[in-house]
Amino acid sequence: MNHKEALQHNIFKVISKSAAELNLDSYVIGGFVRDYLLQRGDAKDIDVVAIGSGIALARQVAKNLPNKPKVQVFKTYGTAMLKLDAIEVEFVGARKESYNEDSRNPVVENGTLQDDQNRRDFSINALALDLSEANFGDLLDPFNGVEDLEHKNICTPLDPDITYSDDPLRMMRAIRFATQLGFIIEKKSLDAITRNNERIKIITNERIVVELNKILESKIPSVGFLLLEETGLLKYILPELTALKGIDEVEGQKHKDNFYHTLEVVDNIAKHTNDVWLRWAALLHDIGKAPTKKFSKKVGWTFHAHEFEGSKMVYHLFKRLKMPLNEKMKCVQKLVFMSSRPIVLAQDVVTDSAVRRLVFDAGEYVDDLMTLCEADITTKNPKKFNKYHNNFKIVREKIIEVEEKDHVRNFQPPISGEEIIKAFNLKPSREIGIIKEAIKEAILEGEIPNEHEAAFNLMIEKGKALGLKISD
Ligand code: ATP
Repeated sequence: MNHKEALQHNIFKVISKSAAELNLDSYVIGGFVRDYLLQRGDAKDIDVVAIGSGIALARQVAKNLPNKPKVQVFKTYGTAMLKLDAIEVEFVGARKESYNEDSRNPVVENGTLQDDQNRRDFSINALALDLSEANFGDLLDPFNGVEDLEHKNICTPLDPDITYSDDPLRMMRAIRFATQLGFIIEKKSLDAITRNNERIKIITNERIVVELNKILESKIPSVGFLLLEETGLLKYILPELTALKGIDEVEGQKHKDNFYHTLEVVDNIAKHTNDVWLRWAALLHDIGKAPTKKFSKKVGWTFHAHEFEGSKMVYHLFKRLKMPLNEKMKCVQKLVFMSSRPIVLAQDVVTDSAVRRLVFDAGEYVDDLMTLCEADITTKNPKKFNKYHNNFKIVREKIIEVEEKDHVRNFQPPISGEEIIKAFNLKPSREIGIIKEAIKEAILEGEIPNEHEAAFNLMIEKGKALGLKISD
């Protein structure tokens, strides 16, 4: 098969010419070819294999390009990279790899194209297009990758036990590709992942998180999390989630399986946002339920203060996985912490003051919180489902109304402590705090508008009640 049409970008002609000048063969391989055949839109990255020095080929290509781009060389890996606008082109010499037990970093020797294809993770990632002038665009598909693309199959070129044990990151990649592409991991491979799951421990957390993010960013993230669970990988990566599995029953009273509920919430939210942090919040919104679960005869199953517990767990989880401990983490924490607030509100008549308090407490995250809570409605009772959604619609409308009127989202008190000190000629004292709190409460309750004059009058009134004298 020839796929010249995949190689229309000028860079391929330049690589072909440069390789001929160096008297070596070269191929474009891996994700670029796979995504071209799947028609997955414009590829960003191009991987080129040279039968010889990849670094030398990259330098020759840069010389032949009109803008002479800089070549970035990674000597330890024997690779080189250059950038063309938004495209990154990576060059590597064909290699043969052998692994030892406790590392995913192989011993590398120079090899043939066949050796290089053997070391690829999946048949669909081992596809190569010839860049030589004589056979430009010829497809080299030693493991029937094209057939696997057609049948939506994920399988390894070599014995899966060896492939996954050599580099356990491939277990995560298999599950990630299955989720992203809607493919099936062949049984032999799935069994091998299950057998080798413990080896995931030698993979760095940073690498694992890259794959987790790609799973979360997929259209139906639950596919990946179910596979992670089924293969036994999840307990090593996110034990907080496996702890949510199962239904307990005491005296005929059951609670729902919070693991499957969580996955439903993640799939729901994926329909409404591409923001990966909001998807993380959905994934973690109930993790506090495992450590807070209790049964009592009087009230049945409870998860008292699980939101608070969960938000603390978010920090430890992010830290363990070496995820950023910045405002993104704080956003996830806040959303987990507040994840039950809107539903409590929506079970009853939605009052202005309750909405005002919600906006005040959630601040800039209030819209994300609403998106999370709408996704959290997984009840199979259509009456309840409609009621909650309708109430959330009212909450959303009221948020806009209240915001226009009272601006409580990023609340700034209309009366400062300084002004209170001046009005009553006070030294810093607890009365200032009491008056400030009374003004805030009155605004949130809707007793006064969030305006200076009304707040000033209330300050005078409260000051008098506290026995303070107005200064002259
Ligand atoms: P994506 O860009 O969606 O991550 P990709 O397949 O291009 O997909 P890369 O990580 O850029 O992913 O890898 C490029 C190619 O390198 C792959 O297609 C595959 O052939 C090979 N590869 C990457 N990681 C591994 C691995 N752990 N084991 C074996 N081969 C790998």
